[in-house]
Amino acid sequence: MKKCIIIGGGVIGLCTAYYLQREGHQVTVIDQSSMDQGASYVNAGYISPSHIIPLSAPGVVRKGIEWMFDPSSPFYVKPRIDADFLRWAWAFNKSCSEKHVKTSMQVIRDIAVLSHELYQDISKEADFNFHFEKKGLLMLCKTEKMLEEEIEVAELAAKVDLEATVLDREGLKLLEPNLEVDAIGATFYKCDAHSTPAEFMSDLKKCLLKNGVEILKGQKVVDVDLKDNKIIAVKSDKGLISGDEFVFAAGSWTGLIAKKLGMQLLLQAGKGYRINVTRDTGIKYPAILAEAKVAVTPMNGFTRFAGTMEINKINDDVNPVRVKAIARAAADYYPEVAIKNEEMKNAASGLRPLSPDGLPYIGRTKNCTNLTIATGHAMMGWTMATGTGKLVSEVITSKKTSLVLEPFSPDRKF
Ligand SMILES: Cc1cc2nc3c(=O)[nH]c(=O)nc-3n(C[C@H](O)[C@H](O)[C@H](O)COP(=O)(O)OP(=O)(O)OC[C@H]3O[C@@H](n4cnc5c(N)ncnc54)[C@H](O)[C@@H]3O)c2cc1C
Repeated sequence: MKKCIIIGGGVIGLCTAYYLQREGHQVTVIDQSSMDQGASYVNAGYISPSHIIPLSAPGVVRKGIEWMFDPSSPFYVKPRIDADFLRWAWAFNKSCSEKHVKTSMQVIRDIAVLSHELYQDISKEADFNFHFEKKGLLMLCKTEKMLEEEIEVAELAAKVDLEATVLDREGLKLLEPNLEVDAIGATFYKCDAHSTPAEFMSDLKKCLLKNGVEILKGQKVVDVDLKDNKIIAVKSDKGLISGDEFVFAAGSWTGLIAKKLGMQLLLQAGKGYRINVTRDTGIKYPAILAEAKVAVTPMNGFTRFAGTMEINKINDDVNPVRVKAIARAAADYYPEVAIKNEEMKNAASGLRPLSPDGLPYIGRTKNCTNLTIATGHAMMGWTMATGTGKLVSEVITSKKTSLVLEPFSPDRKF
């Protein structure tokens, strides 16, 4: 049994704690927040193997430059004279190639499918009652051009054994009979599932506490005590916490902690927002509004509209112009759904931890013998959380890992 210290109590940190505890380790999770906010609470809840294309794909840089001047655009990069950002941007630009997309698709698919299976297993356990449904995901398109692009993506998905069907207006009407959907068609991925994030996080925390995991909320890790390439303890604003093994799963903040070891982990924060609508919207199927890049999820008792990728300094400010753009997109695709001002006022933000190549960092690093990194999951952190937790527990327990970890190496070169 090892004493494992996890920095970060988002979905990645908690899933890691879950699998480490099951392997018989003594686990402590440290989090600077009250553990009820941020990316792991505001996300769209998709567990979506279908998202096989990484953020760093051909055309993204051009689109980002075009959208830079539009305050309501779904993708925004704040240009900054900041060495970390510039290094990240350089590596991101290099990764935006057809070749990278081709090599990443299978890797992304495999960890997403593993995670999906693990979510299914967890959902059957007695301690877990969270909302989890496998109904599929629609990519709703308003224009022929977008539908053609989505059909091309579906053809790529088929190459890695992910099946999608193409629906026209009539097909959409059959799936969504309760309200008007203003779209010409969609691709439909039956392989995808969805969930209500706060419910899973709550079940996880209860289960961990019940099984003896220590959760230290409101403690910020500010430094690392390193000796002979090994972490002896982490220093929080409340004291020293020692252990045998350490996991950095601090989401968008992980790069800052890694710096304490002299490690340069390229990571930026990609902010997104969610709006919850607690009235009955009539929406039955999770959908991505393809042109607007907005995710719509019928959760347990409410509908969530989520979107925007703002790459900027770490902060949780809510930009009302982009929130309004999400609401406008909802009304554009579902004319009967009008999001109210009050609902927009209650919008919340979360930061997606973005690696430059769109693949997570999972595994050991040469900088330190008892450290495992688990972050950088970008738009797929909810999907990949259970798989990541399992993989990290396998690394720490010196077991054969369920997947080859090389593509996820925190030491990979860009
Ligand atoms: C709007 C939106 C929609 C999304 N939709 C989806 C989706 O549908 N499907 C999907 O797969 N993914 C989705 N994502 C992405 C997903 O939510 C994230 O990838 C995932 O939540 C990241 O989890 P995490 O645990 O790495 O980070 P976080 O949830 O950010 O957790 C990191 C934790 O580390 C703590 N921390 C940081 N620094 C320190 C420190 N120094 N000391 C102690 N604690 C520290 C923080 O307080 C935080 O609680 C979405 C994200 C957003 C924003």
